[in-house]
Amino acid sequence: MDFRLTPQEEAFRQEVRDWLRENLPEDWSGDRFTRDRDAETWNVYLSFAKKLAAKRWVAPHWPVEYGGLGLSVIQQLVFNEEIAYHQAPIGYSSIGVGWVGPTVIVYGTEEQKKKHLSAITNAETMWCQGFSEPNAGSDLAALQTRAVRDGDDYVINGQKIWTSGAHLADWCILLARTDPEAPKHKGISYFLLDMKTPGITVQPLIDMMDNHGFNEVFFENVRIPKNCLLGQENQGWYMAATTLDFERSSIGGAVGGRRMLEEIVEYARDTRHNGRRLIDEAPVRVRLADAALEVEIGQLLSYRVASMQSRGLVPNYESSIAKLFNTDMQLRLAKAGMEIMGLYGQLEPQSKYVPLRGKFERQYLWQTGMSVGGGTPEIQKNIIAMRGLGLPRG
Ligand SMILES: Cc1cc2nc3c(=O)[nH]c(=O)nc-3n(C[C@H](O)[C@H](O)[C@H](O)COP(=O)(O)OP(=O)(O)OC[C@H]3O[C@@H](n4cnc5c(N)ncnc54)[C@H](O)[C@@H]3O)c2cc1C
Repeated sequence: MDFRLTPQEEAFRQEVRDWLRENLPEDWSGDRFTRDRDAETWNVYLSFAKKLAAKRWVAPHWPVEYGGLGLSVIQQLVFNEEIAYHQAPIGYSSIGVGWVGPTVIVYGTEEQKKKHLSAITNAETMWCQGFSEPNAGSDLAALQTRAVRDGDDYVINGQKIWTSGAHLADWCILLARTDPEAPKHKGISYFLLDMKTPGITVQPLIDMMDNHGFNEVFFENVRIPKNCLLGQENQGWYMAATTLDFERSSIGGAVGGRRMLEEIVEYARDTRHNGRRLIDEAPVRVRLADAALEVEIGQLLSYRVASMQSRGLVPNYESSIAKLFNTDMQLRLAKAGMEIMGLYGQLEPQSKYVPLRGKFERQYLWQTGMSVGGGTPEIQKNIIAMRGLGLPRG
């Protein structure tokens, strides 16, 4: 397969690169892992999202009528690669652009598309994803949050967990059970829910990096109008599958890995141990060579997903392969970086002795979570086994 870009696509890459160099926040070192999702950080994310919006670059691949530029899948891939390489602060819009928008474009009414898509591309709304529950993560279809029809409304009761950014989000994509009698996959509906609706309580969950990134969300008699339903009632499971396929394509992971590799190579060139440069040590060279190969493979796996999308195909187990490999690859890369730095590799960013601003230590902890978010490695392997290899259900 030939993955080379056309001259126009290369020119677009240069345009994005130049723009990012001019417009990234002044003190932005790209270390999103060292930053909490507090109000100050969020302002950085929001003001960068507004700059992207002014350029129509929040979701440049979306149709023009929804605030995009109608870019091809490959141009979008190039754009995403540059964003990931520069570790641009795109957290404000990432769920809206990556998962909500594509699902609303496929299943939403015209009214829903008008209302939500432009708000996302104008960086006016931030979204969160209310799928997982305390007893429904991998087995998402076991979810128990109820939505009961009452006249022109639905009334929601239940609990979500691990909801990233719920404490800052304006809107939420919510899965809730609308038919408790139906088989579990067939009684779920998909809602677009305003987080300011009365009856919603958001409680922080602090992760192992000591950050407040995700939350528990409680719903007590939350009344929402019936036009918040996306698609048909009880068809939510199939729409959620679409959302998850978009969530798993993961080009950012592969390119983020390339950037980290470059940084650790530079560190190994510049740092001496017992009078020799680290990069001249055989074990270090082997680790770096392995990492370089893995980064390349990760990128090609993501290109495969994009190449399918550009031909109108719907990647499924291919997305799972890319997600599984890329999260694992980044975890191994972070570990390799920490080991190359020796004991200094474990220092936190606040330490005055910390190398590379503590990025590898942060990345190691962050990637452990990322391998679980969006579906654990075991779940990705089940998908690959059943849909990719045609093996029977275990
Ligand atoms: C950083 C992060 C961000 C997240 N953000 C969000 C969010 O914004 N919104 C949201 O809804 N959720 C979010 N999640 C939740 C995430 O989707 C779930 O954690 C994930 O789906 C796993 O579910 P669980 O935690 O309930 O684990 P469980 O499903 O209980 O799994 C526990 C273990 O059992 C294994 N296992 C389970 N079933 C099988 C099986 N059939 N075969 C083999 N092994 C199996 C799993 O692989 C895992 O190792 C986030 C999670 C993380 C870590």
